[in-house]
Amino acid sequence: MAEHESLEFGKADFVLLDNVSLEEFLANLKLRFEKGRIYSYIGEVVVSVNPYRAMNIYGRDTIEQYKGRELYERPPHLFAIADAAYKAMKRRNKDTCIVISGESGAGKTEASKYIMQYIAAITNPSQRAEVERVKNMLLKSNCVLEAFGNAKTNRNDNSSRFGKYMDINFDFKGDPIGGHINNYLLEKVGRVVHAREEQRMQGDESLLRSLHIQKDPTAYSYIKVGGHIKVFHSNSTLKDIKVLKGFIEILPIYEEHCVLLQGNLKFGNDGDVTLIENSKLVAVLGELLSTKEENVEKALLYRTVATGRDVIDKQHTDQEASYGRDALAKAIYERLFCWIVGRINDIIEVKNYDARIHGKNTVIGVLDIYGFEIFQNNSFEQFCINYCNEKLQQLFIQLVLKQEQEEYQREGIPWKHIDYFNNQIIVDLVELQHKGIFSVLDEACMNVGKVTDEMFLQALNSKLAKHAHYTSRKLSPTDKSLEFDRDFRIRHYAGDVVYSVLGFIDKNKDTLFQDFKRLLYNSSNPVLKAMWPEGKLSITEVTKRPLTAATLFKNSMISLVENLASKEPYYVRCIKPNDVKSPLLFEYERCKHQVEYLGLLENVRVRRAGFANRQTYPRFLQRYKMISEFTWPNHDLPSDREAVKRLLQGCGFEHDVAYGKTKVFIRTPRTIFSLEEQRAEMV
Ligand code: ADP
Ligand code: MG
Repeated sequence: MAEHESLEFGKADFVLLDNVSLEEFLANLKLRFEKGRIYSYIGEVVVSVNPYRAMNIYGRDTIEQYKGRELYERPPHLFAIADAAYKAMKRRNKDTCIVISGESGAGKTEASKYIMQYIAAITNPSQRAEVERVKNMLLKSNCVLEAFGNAKTNRNDNSSRFGKYMDINFDFKGDPIGGHINNYLLEKVGRVVHAREEQRMQGDESLLRSLHIQKDPTAYSYIKVGGHIKVFHSNSTLKDIKVLKGFIEILPIYEEHCVLLQGNLKFGNDGDVTLIENSKLVAVLGELLSTKEENVEKALLYRTVATGRDVIDKQHTDQEASYGRDALAKAIYERLFCWIVGRINDIIEVKNYDARIHGKNTVIGVLDIYGFEIFQNNSFEQFCINYCNEKLQQLFIQLVLKQEQEEYQREGIPWKHIDYFNNQIIVDLVELQHKGIFSVLDEACMNVGKVTDEMFLQALNSKLAKHAHYTSRKLSPTDKSLEFDRDFRIRHYAGDVVYSVLGFIDKNKDTLFQDFKRLLYNSSNPVLKAMWPEGKLSITEVTKRPLTAATLFKNSMISLVENLASKEPYYVRCIKPNDVKSPLLFEYERCKHQVEYLGLLENVRVRRAGFANRQTYPRFLQRYKMISEFTWPNHDLPSDREAVKRLLQGCGFEHDVAYGKTKVFIRTPRTIFSLEEQRAEMV
C-alpha cells in the first residue's frame, strides 16, 4: 500500500476530508505535521508546513523516486509538483509556472530552492558543459540575491522585498539555457530606515576601513532605532562579500554603507537656518558617492524649485531634511537592489538562442511571493500585498475553472456549475479606473496643497459608500472595531482586514527630491550615474510627476498576472507553524489564521467541485489493466473507452467517473488511490 494512503499520517489530500471545515482541515494539517509529513495536497496544490528542522527528504534517492512519476503515485512533495511542471513543459511544450506563497518565514524561499535543485538534478543527462554552467549560474544567482537581501534587512522577518519571480528557459531537449529574475520590492517604509535589528558588520578589515565601515553596529542609528543589536559572529558576511565581489564588484557594500551612514546625519537649526550637526559625515558620504562634499550638503539642505521662469533654492526645515534623508536612503537601497538584479540578468539571460536550430524555447517560472498579510496595524504595504493576493486568487479561479470548463466541453462532459466566490469584485474595488481605491488615492495625491490621510478617507467614504466589500466607521457608526478618522475595512476573499489610512498619502507619493537624483546623476562613479537617469533633467524640464507607488505597484501586478496567465500554473502554499522556529510546535491559532488567509478552504471547495483526475484511455489502461480480468493482458472490447468502462464497473467506481471523448474523468482522488492500491497488489 502506498504510504500516502495510511491514515496514521492523516489524509494526504485535503480533498478527501469528510467535511470541508476549518476544524477538520487543521486537525489533519496538525496530525501530518506531527508525524513529520510536512507536505500535503489540495488536488494539485502543495500545502507545506515549515518543519524548522533538517528533513531527510531532498536527497538524490528521493529525487529518483519522483522523476517522471505522476502526482498521485507518490507521497506529496515539492518534487512532485516540480516534476509535473517540468513534464508539462517538456512533453506538451507548455510554459508553466510555480506560484509559492505564504507569510514571511513560512518556507517559500527554501521551497523555491528545492524546486530549482530538483530541476537541476533531472536535466542535462548528457552533462553538456554549457548547460551545467547555466545551471550553476541560476542556482548561484539565487544565493547572491539572498545574501544581499539578508545583509540588508532583518533576516526573513522584516525583509523589505515581497516577491521574486524567476524564469528558467529551456531548450527543446528540456535543458536549462538561461533565466531572468524580476524583483517586486515593496519598500516597507520604516523598515529600511527604522527597523534593522540584525546587521552583520564583519568582514575583511582593510575593506571595512576603505569604506569607512565601523565594526560596531551601534555606531549606526538606522540600526539602533530598530531595537536591540545583534551581530552575527559568523563569517557569513565575509563569504557574502566575496560572492558579491566576484559577481558585481564592491559597489553594493559601500552603497549600503552609505545608507547606514546617512542615518547618522542629524539636522538642527540655528535660528532660521537648518544645519547638519555632524558635518564630518558629509565628507565621507561625498567620498563614497563619488561626488563633492558641498553638493551633498546642498542636496540635503536645499531644494531647487522653479517658480515660473525663476529657479530658486529653498531651504528645508529640519523635518523636511530628515524626511529627505530617509527617502534618499530608501531610494539608494531600492535602486541598488534593482541594479544588482539587472546585472545578474545580464549574466543569466539566454544568449544566442536560435529557434530554428534549437526549437521552441519554453519556460518554467517560479514565483516566491508573500501571501495575505494581516498585522495588528495594517497599512499601505499590507493593502498592496493583499491586493496582489486578490489578483493571484482571481487568476487561480479563472485558470482552474476556465481550464476545467474548456476541457469538459472538448470532451463532451456536461458542466456542472461550481459554487464558489468570485473575487473579481474586490479586485475592481482596488484597481478600477476612477472608482477604485488606488484611483481615489492618486487623485488625493494630485491635489495641490496639503492633503491629509483623513481627507483621503473621506474621499473613499463618498465614493465607496455603497460597495459591499468596503466599510468605515462613518458608514457603519455602530461598528466599534473601526476608528472614526482612521480605518476602513475591506472584506477580502480570505476574510476581513482593517487598514489604517495613516501614511497612505506619503507612502503613495514616495517622493524623492529631484535634487538627490541630480546629485547622484552627477556622481563621477559611472554605475551610480547610470542608476539615476532622471537626474539628467534640469529643474525646468521636470514637469511630469513621477508615477505614484500605487500606480507602479498596480502596473507591475497587472503585468505579473498577465505573464502568469500565459502559463500553466502550479501552486505551493507555505505555512509557518509557530513564531519561535520550533520544529515541535503547531500553534493552532497561528495556523488557523494562515489557512484562512491563504484561502485554502475555498481552494478545497473549488477542487472538490471538479474532477480530481483525468487520463487518456490508453494511458489509463496501460497503468491499470492488470487489475481486471477483462483487460489483462489484453482486451477484446471494441475500444479502449469500452475497456476502461468495463474495468471501472468491475471495481464499483461507476458513480465516481465520467467518460469523455478521449479521457476518463475521475471525481475523487480516493478512487485513484484505490486503483493504485489494487495495482500495487498485482505488480
Ligand atoms: P520565507 O522565504 O517564506 O520567508 P524561508 O524559506 O527563508 O522563508 O524559511 C525560513 C527558515 O525556515 C529557513 O531559513 C529554514 O531554517 C527553515 N525552513 C524552511 N523550509 C524548510 C524545510 N523545507 N526544511 C527545513 N527547514 C526549513
Ligand atoms: Mg524568502
